[in-house]
Amino acid sequence: MSSITVVGSVNRDLVLTVQDLPRPGETVLAERFVEGVGGKGANQAVAAARLGSRVRLVARVGADAETILRALAAEGVDVTEVLPAADASTGIASVVVDRAGENTIVVNPGANAALTVADLPEHLSGAGEVLLVQHEIAPEVVAAAVLRARELGGTVVLNPAPARPVASDVLAAVDVLVPNLGELATLLDVAPPTGPDGARDLLEKAELPCGAVVVTLGADGALVKQPGRPAVHLPAPAVDAVDTVGAGDTFCGALADSLARGGDLLSAAERAVRAASLAVTGLGAQSSMPTAAQLDSPAADRS
Ligand code: ATP
Repeated sequence: MSSITVVGSVNRDLVLTVQDLPRPGETVLAERFVEGVGGKGANQAVAAARLGSRVRLVARVGADAETILRALAAEGVDVTEVLPAADASTGIASVVVDRAGENTIVVNPGANAALTVADLPEHLSGAGEVLLVQHEIAPEVVAAAVLRARELGGTVVLNPAPARPVASDVLAAVDVLVPNLGELATLLDVAPPTGPDGARDLLEKAELPCGAVVVTLGADGALVKQPGRPAVHLPAPAVDAVDTVGAGDTFCGALADSLARGGDLLSAAERAVRAASLAVTGLGAQSSMPTAAQLDSPAADRS
């Protein structure tokens, strides 16, 4: 049985590098084109597998996904629960990145939208195991996965990205919620806070019915708020950030990896900050995710 079950999306990432992002009505020529495997589900599964966890992915893909499935399996991800969608092609993310690293992304959910509650395996995630879910699949599938894993005794980690509200009974079944600042603001229906202090103020006052909250703060690292304890700020190491695409996914995968090994939340978040900060130093989402050896090498500790 896998230590981590990821229920989420698989996308074909089409990444176009341009000088300047096109304005409405404008056509620009790309300087570079790279096709790869993406989607928050697949990315987070790969991030955790690279750090050594046994990871199973539950998802839907189109008939066109043979290469993608091979790539995921080569990363050590168990893809036996990645089911074919009858009438849809694999999700597509069209990513346009300019020379400043700014990007625009258009996603066609495709087969991800065909994942249903009936596709969830009976044994989703039990005691000592972790369920990791994001928002690139239907809300009712997220809800069913979270509630079932809670019943079975698994540790439930929800990354509410992209931002959308979450029902309070679902939130109440989440052990660790991992939003960025914008997603936290959406959940609380307030304006996005700024920086660690803004997030801290909001979390001290906020009424979120879940267990712990780990807010990712980009270059500022992360803030960990556990029930009944003051929030703890974990700064990120100063790095040369080349490409932040997939930083949040690396963070979530690394956090799940540590939790599945029985680590406490603060140490898990500290390791996730370091893993994600390493990931932003290389191009691409999955290609720059660190292995355990890279993360634990003395050279990786630049803080
Ligand atoms: P994305 O959607 O781009 O994947 P996100 O909004 O989900 O990202 P962020 O909060 O931007 O997530 O970043 C996640 C983690 O990545 C941070 O907690 C931090 O550890 C690391 N990180 C991101 N940007 C930087 C940076 N410029 N320098 C160092 N670490 C960074």
